[in-house]
Amino acid sequence: KVGMNVQDLSKLLHRDTAEIIKKLFLLGIVTNQNQSLDEDTIEILAADYGIEAKQKEEEDLADIDRFFDDAAVNEENLEPRAPVVTIMGHVDHGKTTLLDYLRKTNVTAGEAGGITQHIGAYQARLDGRLITFLDTPGHAAFTEMRARGANITDITVLVVAADDGVQPQTIEAINHAKAAGTPIIVAVNKIDKEGANPDQVINQLMAYDLVPEEYGGSTIFVKISAKMGQNVDQLLEMILLEADVLELKADPTVPARGSVIEARLDKGRGPVSTVLVQQGTLHVGDPVVVGNTYGRIRTMQNENGQDIKEAKPATPVQITGLNEVPSAGDRFVVMADEKSARAAGEERAKRAREEVRNSSSVVTLDTLFNTM
Ligand code: GDP
Ligand code: MG
Repeated sequence: KVGMNVQDLSKLLHRDTAEIIKKLFLLGIVTNQNQSLDEDTIEILAADYGIEAKQKEEEDLADIDRFFDDAAVNEENLEPRAPVVTIMGHVDHGKTTLLDYLRKTNVTAGEAGGITQHIGAYQARLDGRLITFLDTPGHAAFTEMRARGANITDITVLVVAADDGVQPQTIEAINHAKAAGTPIIVAVNKIDKEGANPDQVINQLMAYDLVPEEYGGSTIFVKISAKMGQNVDQLLEMILLEADVLELKADPTVPARGSVIEARLDKGRGPVSTVLVQQGTLHVGDPVVVGNTYGRIRTMQNENGQDIKEAKPATPVQITGLNEVPSAGDRFVVMADEKSARAAGEERAKRAREEVRNSSSVVTLDTLFNTM
């Protein structure tokens, strides 16, 4: 509780101390100027002057989840943003092939001088609209993020090979998407292959509530060949259609916040991280707290290795300037100044160390009991 005495309060209200004491006396409270007042008394007195007194809540700088969730977004500033898509499916069903195809076709149509970098995410374009694809869906950090309810994916594309059908990881992917609450678009892949039976895949998936419209359901199925690029444009079209239904919007005017896609230590550049901006616009020079570390954005590059100065919502960018390497799945928040970013980062690192210490002492106790 914030201590406030009569003198402090009189200053705050621009009144004589004597006047305050008298007023309090009339309210049945006997005080002197150094006596500290409780919250109720301050409230009553302030109300007498027609002022609403509210104690300012102590801000926990280290609680970046709160900054993340509560940061004011102005309805009027909301703008449509690109959907963030994860491609999932059983091993060898064609996820990498599909991503590579999208990346290749995008680069040839893309900006001059660009060399594709594998930064863990990138954007594809159709009819001038962007779609953000995440490269690292199987990553443990993403599972953990989902468990925390901090899902960064809007749409799941489920790749199922038409010559192999539903397999264990297909079912796993369906369960993941359902748990995360993201709509699923099915890409029945390898339709160019001899022996491919796309209709059988559709039949199998109906058992998992993935029912196409022609059978009374609402799941979108697209028959593709990731290898040949057949119907891939149609798949992108369907993703954009689903995005329209979801009415994905963000406020580019607020301080940026988002999540770490991947991060590593580069010999020359120090910690290098790919982050996805989820709200606001991230700028070079912005002070940030990221997971348990902090820094100031020194450089920012897109997936074509081009330097950029700012990144809008749903854009993946590679950043440098952090003090340490964050973890995939960590959240980042742009702070008001470098000092608070540093304070928040150091406090979070301290708490993380304490947590580790506490959990290891629990392990020690367990071990102790087990040996008894
Ligand atoms: P992932 O494990 O899901 O990433 O699968 P990959 O993309 O690595 O693909 C596994 C194998 O299937 C590779 O040999 C690909 O060339 C092949 N493949 C992927 N998509 C297609 C396709 O549409 N048609 C054919 N014929 N082969 C494909
Ligand atoms: Mg792969």
